[in-house]
Order: sequence, then structure tokens, then C-alpha cells
Amino acid sequence: MNDCLTIPKTIYCKICKICGARPVIEADIAGFYVVKCPNDNSHYQTRSGLIDIEDWNRNNTIHFIPGRDINPQVSC
Ligand SMILES: [Zn+2]
Repeated sequence: MNDCLTIPKTIYCKICKICGARPVIEADIAGFYVVKCPNDNSHYQTRSGLIDIEDWNRNNTIHFIPGRDINPQVSC
């Protein structure tokens, strides 16, 4: 079963940071949703559950540097 839904153009979502494709929503066998790249399962995809385009947008960005905000050097 490969049920892909396209995301309406009215919803803001970033394109895949690796290949530039617009993400799709896919339901897995358990009925959970992932937001994922339509081209490759190894490209970024959200955890299954609710449709989380916000998570996709947050993590699927070229400028994302992991850990950068976790350990701030500067304190007042
Ligand atoms: Zn991709």
C-alpha cells in the first residue's frame, strides 16, 4: 500500500534539502502519517504519527546545524 497525498500549495512547506522535491504525506500500515521526500526514503522524513509539516520545515533545511543552539557559550 503506497498512499501518497500531495500537500496543498496553500500550505507552506520546504522542498527536500537533498533533491529539491516537494514533500508528500504518506500513510503507513498502522495508519500513521509521515511527511517525506517522494523520491527517496533515505532523505529526510518526519517520525510517523500526526502530519507534522512543521517538523519537516524545521529539520529539512540546508542551514540547519545540529547542536548549535543546544550548548550556548554565552551566558549573561
Ligand atoms: Zn529528496
